[in-house]
Amino acid sequence: FLFVGRKRNLEGLEFGKSDFVLLDEVTMEQFMENLKLRFEKGRIYTFIGEVVVSVNPYREMDIYGKETIDAYRGRELYENPPHLYAVSDAAYKAMKRRAKDTCIVISGESGAGKTEASKYIMQYIAAITNPTQRAEVESVKNVLLKSNCVLEAFGNAKTNRNDNSSRFGKYMDINFNFNGDPTGGHINNYLLEKSRVVHQQDGERNFHSFYQLLRGGSNEMLESFHLQSDPAVYTYTREGATTNNDRTSHKAVMSALNVIGFSEEEINSIYQILATILLLGNMQFECDGESVQIVGLEAVNHISELTATDPESVSKSLLYRTVATGGGEVIEKGHSEQDACFGRDAFAKALYERLFGWIVSRINTVIEVKDYNPMLHGKNTVIGVLDIYGFEIFDNNSFEQFCINYCNEKLQQLFIELILRQEQGEYQREGITWQHIDYFNNQIIVDLVEQPHKGIISILDEACLTVGNVTDTVCLDSMDTKLAQHPHYTSRKQQTDRKYGGEGDVTFMEGFLDKNKDMLFQDFKRLMYNSANPVLKEMWPDGHLSITEVTKRPLTAATLFKNSIVALVDKLACKEPYYVRCIKPNEMKSPVLFDDARCQHQVAYLGLMENVMVRRAGFAYRQPYSRFLQRYKMTCEYTWPQHLMASDREAVETIVTQHGFQDDVAYGHTKLFVRTPRSLFTLEQERAAL
Ligand code: ATP
Ligand code: MG
Repeated sequence: FLFVGRKRNLEGLEFGKSDFVLLDEVTMEQFMENLKLRFEKGRIYTFIGEVVVSVNPYREMDIYGKETIDAYRGRELYENPPHLYAVSDAAYKAMKRRAKDTCIVISGESGAGKTEASKYIMQYIAAITNPTQRAEVESVKNVLLKSNCVLEAFGNAKTNRNDNSSRFGKYMDINFNFNGDPTGGHINNYLLEKSRVVHQQDGERNFHSFYQLLRGGSNEMLESFHLQSDPAVYTYTREGATTNNDRTSHKAVMSALNVIGFSEEEINSIYQILATILLLGNMQFECDGESVQIVGLEAVNHISELTATDPESVSKSLLYRTVATGGGEVIEKGHSEQDACFGRDAFAKALYERLFGWIVSRINTVIEVKDYNPMLHGKNTVIGVLDIYGFEIFDNNSFEQFCINYCNEKLQQLFIELILRQEQGEYQREGITWQHIDYFNNQIIVDLVEQPHKGIISILDEACLTVGNVTDTVCLDSMDTKLAQHPHYTSRKQQTDRKYGGEGDVTFMEGFLDKNKDMLFQDFKRLMYNSANPVLKEMWPDGHLSITEVTKRPLTAATLFKNSIVALVDKLACKEPYYVRCIKPNEMKSPVLFDDARCQHQVAYLGLMENVMVRRAGFAYRQPYSRFLQRYKMTCEYTWPQHLMASDREAVETIVTQHGFQDDVAYGHTKLFVRTPRSLFTLEQERAAL
């Protein structure tokens, strides 16, 4: 124990401050200096109290092995250098000792290391649980770990920012029994970026799954799917056909699907759907003057074969749509060439989105906690892990960025609320008075987006649900009128810089309304519902509705997203939160480059400085009296080796007074609170000198 303490003390001198709370002064300059120094010294983790700040090392680090796991297992946060394992253990301990539901929220921009962090956290939890190796627990752990591989194959893609970028948000609950062993779990997925299925920006790829199938699928499989193995052949995968490790990944995914318990039939159906999407993408239409036709009927036959539907219905759903007239009459209306293309792409996107959703729910049925009896087993507790897209600001911002950034505002709001609430709660419990400190409350931004009637989502929805041709310009005008007075809304008309001005902006909004409407002709849904393949049919339960039964006002994509995020925040809010804040050191994926400006920007919008200030304005350190004694009793002759006082608290008071920092502390009911780090520093140095 003593040794660990000394080692840590040494780390403090050479590698910068292991906790930002220990900075001499809380200035951006000092913060950045410390962050940079630690990154350069290979110390990628730093605490802010219980929050872990992580900088992506962009190289393999030898800090996740069994030895490290053992060093952190069951220890207190401050006993070891900062690490993901320290927060994981803290979350686990709180869950186990106090039967508290906890959650670990991982945030940061694309490429900052969130998904890697979430995997290390899960690995740590898997490693420290089930010491007796009970088979059913091992199998739950196995499925939980393997699910990552499958979700990454179908939900991740190479982007310009990250070769393995998660294009969906993920929240995973892990359930534990009274022993603290995992009994199951549940995954929620948020807003898959399905537009990627049909279009990618220069240099980016479609979802990994397509390339894995084409490059890794056996010849028989590809042949039976009528596919060629070269991604460049397909419109949807033509971009960025360069390889990642698609072939080996394909094997891993297949094996993971097997381990999780997908049947042969289900696995085959999954790949049939991918094949269908690729074939759809190459489908073209031509207008012979009167009506629109499909070019080359072979593809129609292949698609009908792959989806177990009849060819006639396939072509019909691609060329016509059923509409109900005002008089209740049902007619078939031929598509224009443009409509047909739009319909085809919408169909491809929806196929993929539903496939993804189905995979997630299929995994959930396997890991769902079954037969848990609270009377027998005690409280069933949960650790939630959230790995969700961070703020995104591109040159061209579309609907996805709007949703993602809104989601981050909500999470930031929660961070503010919980960090404050937690601090205040602790002071109250311990009977300590403290000074409230202010910082920017982003509730006003959240309201701007989500308020009923006058929020941006409402205005968008209104435009989308209005019958007739509401253009983006009309929608923007409506926003300008309703939001002109809002201090955080800037109209595009007032903005004269090039970023959002000019024609680029119009295209940007055009996509916006369509994506929010997210329209898919009912004919496609019915086609899939009528498939003879039960797996496919299961994905399209709403296909049985006839056109007259279809709800007139379906919820828009933005509203659905908002509802799911509100539900997520509610879920998080009732758990004890732990935070991992990830920072991306540079844009070149370099292990040595620390781009000061980029990093500072992230530190600012993640609110890390505010975090340090809150931590410091209150009491930076707190320790139960017994712990404090254990660590520092050797620094005082009245407490070493044993004190003879009436209580631990009195003994602690003796130590504090002897070292002369009685004005820097407060005594709670069970803990000592220390305001500035200097006091503890003195003690630490004295310990080290002994
Ligand atoms: P996105 O929002 O795009 O999904 P992300 O925050 O999830 O991004 P990751 O995919 O976790 O980012 O990390 C990007 C890459 O950075 C990884 O593929 C890996 O190469 C590297 N990386 C991240 N964290 C670590 C780490 N702890 N050790 C080594 N390499 C890492
Ligand atoms: Mg990710």
